[in-house]
Amino acid sequence: MSSAVLSIGSNVGDRLGHLRRCVALLGDAVLAASPVYSTAPWGGVPQDDFLNAVLLVEDQDADAQEWLRRGQCCEAAAQRTRHVRWGPRTLDVDVIDVEQTRQDDPRLTLPHPRAHQRAFVLVPWLDVAPGAVLAGRGMVAELVAALPAAEKRRVRRRDDLTLESR
Ligand code: ADP
Ligand code: MG
Repeated sequence: MSSAVLSIGSNVGDRLGHLRRCVALLGDAVLAASPVYSTAPWGGVPQDDFLNAVLLVEDQDADAQEWLRRGQCCEAAAQRTRHVRWGPRTLDVDVIDVEQTRQDDPRLTLPHPRAHQRAFVLVPWLDVAPGAVLAGRGMVAELVAALPAAEKRRVRRRDDLTLESR
């Protein structure tokens, strides 16, 4: 059995549609989907706001590498093209955690190396897993509490949007 935490985001085109299609492609593996947040972008590249969410997924046949592969399949299905680092993308799927595995491989670093500083990861993660722990960093609730105010202000919960497509 392997469970994982995935962060999904989109800031190009039908942003909510891209997130919903990702959830649909992951299918029965999705145990929980967080509320949707809109997030001001990072990295100094002028671009539209992101929609972000966090998914809890589980599949007895999936290891960490397989979660990365499934995420990349979803990105490919969204016809992701991206030439600018931290630039706009139809769909970004990041593997945040796989059962508190810690590994340094640049092809798959776990936990995700920037998760602890990103409100758009930590805040929705906390919504769906109040007791969650980020390996090597501590309780997600405490990491959220410790975020700089400017980072917390970048995320806004969108109760008018939902990942449920029905
Ligand atoms: P970013 O999400 O940092 O903007 P990309 O989505 O383009 O960048 O990912 C670049 C590479 O990061 C991918 O090819 C992937 O192999 C690698 N990578 C390393 N660790 C992770 C992780 N935890 N989740 C997703 N991708 C990762
Ligand atoms: Mg990514």
